[in-house]
Amino acid sequence: MQRARSLTGDGSAPADSVVRAFPPLPDGDRALLEAMPIAAGIFSLKDGRLWIEALNQRFYDLAGCGGDPADFVEMMKEHSSGPGGKLVRDFLADPANAAEEIEYRDGEGLTSRFLKTRLAPLEPCSDGRPRCLMSVVDRTIEVRAADHARAEMLRDSLTGLPNRLAFTDMIEAAGKDSGPGECAVPRHAGHAVLVVDMLRFSRINESMGSLFGDELLITFARRLISALRAGDLLARTGGNEFGIVVALRNGIADAQSAARRIQDVLAAPFRLSDLEIKVECAIGIAMRSDGQDPEELFRNAQFAVKQAKSSGRPELYQPEEASAARRRFSIETELRRALDRDELSLAYQPLVNLRSGKVAGFEALARWTHAERGEISPSEFIPVAEESGLILHLGRWALDTAARTLAEWDKAAGGPLPLHFAINLSAIQIARDNVAGMVEGTLKAAGIAGNRLTLELTESSIVQDPGRAQRVFEALKALDATVAMDDFGTGYSSLAYLQRLPIDVLKIDQSFVAGMMHDSDNVAIVRAVLSLAEALGMSTTAEGIETVELATTLAALGCAHGQGYYFSRPLEADAAFAYCSGRLAE
Ligand code: C2E
Ligand code: MG
Ligand code: MG
Repeated sequence: MQRARSLTGDGSAPADSVVRAFPPLPDGDRALLEAMPIAAGIFSLKDGRLWIEALNQRFYDLAGCGGDPADFVEMMKEHSSGPGGKLVRDFLADPANAAEEIEYRDGEGLTSRFLKTRLAPLEPCSDGRPRCLMSVVDRTIEVRAADHARAEMLRDSLTGLPNRLAFTDMIEAAGKDSGPGECAVPRHAGHAVLVVDMLRFSRINESMGSLFGDELLITFARRLISALRAGDLLARTGGNEFGIVVALRNGIADAQSAARRIQDVLAAPFRLSDLEIKVECAIGIAMRSDGQDPEELFRNAQFAVKQAKSSGRPELYQPEEASAARRRFSIETELRRALDRDELSLAYQPLVNLRSGKVAGFEALARWTHAERGEISPSEFIPVAEESGLILHLGRWALDTAARTLAEWDKAAGGPLPLHFAINLSAIQIARDNVAGMVEGTLKAAGIAGNRLTLELTESSIVQDPGRAQRVFEALKALDATVAMDDFGTGYSSLAYLQRLPIDVLKIDQSFVAGMMHDSDNVAIVRAVLSLAEALGMSTTAEGIETVELATTLAALGCAHGQGYYFSRPLEADAAFAYCSGRLAE
């Protein structure tokens, strides 16, 4: 340890007032400084000025002034007026209320260091001056390493672009940047976030290997960069997803032209190794509104990308669509719960023989009364059930419930009633479930014959996989069940399938039926369907009969059965059973 021969001024003190002779250092303090494994010194305060009582060798080493005392004095003077000096002065003046520790940057640029200074109180000097022990640690290496790690954390190692984490910061920073500039012209009139999703990437990756996939991503990123304008920012926000902050000068038009430029740069095929591939992307755009959270803005653009994937063109985020999607999502969650708790029911709507006026059967229709939202229409929850796969569960439940109800009616009537139940099957069930096996099991469990059930299918169940549909329909026929084509005329099935598939009944969609009275085209369509059915040996049911005129017209045209509010709305099981009384065929 060396005894310092100088004392630093407090910055305002004249240079010549800082040198003084030292009183001897108490042995205990000397031992303390020598034992300290880090740079340390003892400081005191007199008349508002800082005095160095003693410094250990490590302190000189840290100061690194090449042994020149003049340099050292200069350096200590400088520090005395900096944050370190202030810390010591405040601490010595009022230890109870002062900070004990400070971390600060010493110097600027590459040679700057990060110092951590800590203070501890010592016994005052013999003349009563307050003293303290200061230790200093150079944390430059740790701070630089942490900075580096943070930079790495914010960077995508494959493309070198900022990553998902950094992207939110970029959006945030862009928000602060926009607004009036220094001159009268605004710098940006806000900004938009674009999310670009490379389509079919996982298939390419799987079939060509991940090295090829990596190369493709890098090339893709380069193309995106070439589509950007100065001020736009690009990040890789997911495996095959990129985010762009687009500065807007002309509002939404700038975002749309950015999307067009991106599509343009992707127009030419990618040449990788000796292969050429065409890469397409979906683009979602979200415009920033005032004070909007960056995460939310990004999510909006991601939502728009989803829309873009199905529409095949760049999509702008529309809040109404998102709230409809949110409603769909909460309906999905609540429908799952409702199914688990058996909160759905079936309503039964009579199917009437138009010639005799007798009830031939009932169509079972799912009903859901939500505790808070009230009645939710099947036209809303069935599509959600189909999208989420819940339709498999719902479909089995509907079939079982209807069959059990029919068996109960039979039992109450003392024998099989002369009527059948029609149950709707979704195209998803045809594609994913073992429908025939399920129907067979249900018939057995309920103890009813196959001909008591009609399965209503839509044209979409044929269009998706005609071969599979054919097998399912045939298996249902083998169980003696009836197969009806629901909403006929609204799908896209070809006449060839109609002829080939074992379909017993065509249900004429209510949209044609409802329009018959005012629109001769609808009458022509209904007549065409009726004669088509006749030619193919099928029966017909008209849906949506609301008036006596429609009922009689359809009967006159030769339609076999009808269903609609004119006869009855869908009824609860007990009411439907009561409806049969006096209306059944002998
Ligand atoms: P759908 O199978 O074509 O059923 C006929 C729909 O027309 C029913 O609507 C019925 O209430 C309605 N309707 C009957 N008569 C009239 C009328 O005179 N005028 C009008 N305007 N409408 C009438 P609902 O009950 O709302 O069901 C809608 C659709 O939801 C059904 O159309 C069916 O495709 C589907 N659905 C209902 N329950 C189930 C189910 O358990 N499983 C499956 N997969 N789909 C179901
Ligand atoms: Mg139906
Ligand atoms: Mg229908």
